[in-house]
Amino acid sequence: MNRTLKDSYGRSIRDLRVSLTDRCNFRCFYCLPHGEPPIAPKEQMLSYEEIEYVCAIFVELGIEKLRLTGGEPMMRRDIETIIQKLVKLKVPVAPLSDKLQLVDHARDTLPSVDDKLKFVGLLDLALTTNGYFLPDRAAGLKAAGLDRITISLDSLKRDTFKQMTGVDVLDRVLAGIEAAKNAGLQPIKINAVIVRGHNEDEVADFAAFAREHDVKMRFIEFMPLDSGHEWSRGDVVSGREIRERISARFPLTPLKVERGSETSTRYLFADGAPGEIGIIAPVTEAFCGACSRIRLTADGQIRTCLFSTVEHSLRDVIRGGATRDEIIEYIEGVVMKKEPRHYINDPAFVAPSRSMSFIGG
Ligand code: SAM
Ligand code: SF4
Repeated sequence: MNRTLKDSYGRSIRDLRVSLTDRCNFRCFYCLPHGEPPIAPKEQMLSYEEIEYVCAIFVELGIEKLRLTGGEPMMRRDIETIIQKLVKLKVPVAPLSDKLQLVDHARDTLPSVDDKLKFVGLLDLALTTNGYFLPDRAAGLKAAGLDRITISLDSLKRDTFKQMTGVDVLDRVLAGIEAAKNAGLQPIKINAVIVRGHNEDEVADFAAFAREHDVKMRFIEFMPLDSGHEWSRGDVVSGREIRERISARFPLTPLKVERGSETSTRYLFADGAPGEIGIIAPVTEAFCGACSRIRLTADGQIRTCLFSTVEHSLRDVIRGGATRDEIIEYIEGVVMKKEPRHYINDPAFVAPSRSMSFIGG
């Protein structure tokens, strides 16, 4: 029987983001500007066996999309191994008829695996990475069974890239994008956090990049999730401004798909050029009412919202000898506590103490 995780507001939880590590080799100023805190003891981190075990339970509870993230997930050695294990949660059931209409997120996953199969259980296994390790390892990720990849790229200019990420490796990340493409990890999504005074002048250039390389460009509003706690409202470039900047050079057509729980509003180029635009505007156009996400941190804490100020230690529960049924009961109880919305725009907003690199973006 198919189960669904529901929160107390009736939202179905289908999407789990798993942070594999809070370590990172970049120093993005909007995330981890002052570097990492002292390394937490290894025993506090979930092992691959524990991640596999809890992900299987989450999938049994109705999770359809798993995204591996971090920190920089590819800093974790042997990430291909955990991908090989998690991909087994995708259960092929029946050949697809050519005419069968798939839901959008499922259609995205199929070409890379086997476009003749339909899956139950896990539908989509994705990874978000800064791209640094991809030139050598993209093919291995594909071979391990990864469906999709999202690569962060905040600037197309060497100086701005260095200034935003703390590392002078733009060419390497661009080579990583190419390697992912060559490995067949398509469709590729590119994430750019747009921050006032840094890269808002590049928005239309990114759109040109999407057209030229046939990638799905995702523009993200800067959120108060930086470890330096220096976020200010004035730094946010709104989704609306991003849309206007692109449209001034490349007219856009809204993509007519059910948005469902998708975080982005999506557009195609009106002239039919390849590529796609998505705008993720959690600050100025909150989409909490349709949120289907929860997160698991590298040290095994469930976070029910990016902006949660409390965490729930699944790690302690599994290490405390809980049975599978007890773990299920615990997860269902935690999900019922999911916040109705974020409070970024309320005067009393308190930013979470952990940055995006810990929470798992
Ligand atoms: N290290 C990987 C990367 O950068 O792609 C994965 C983890 S990172 C935390 C995931 C995503 O969160 C990245 O696309 C990053 O740009 C985004 N992010 C981090 N801090 C953010 C912030 N304060 N506001 C908006 N997006 C942020
Ligand atoms: Fe590292 Fe990703 Fe955070 Fe940049 S956004 S510091 S690459 S975790």
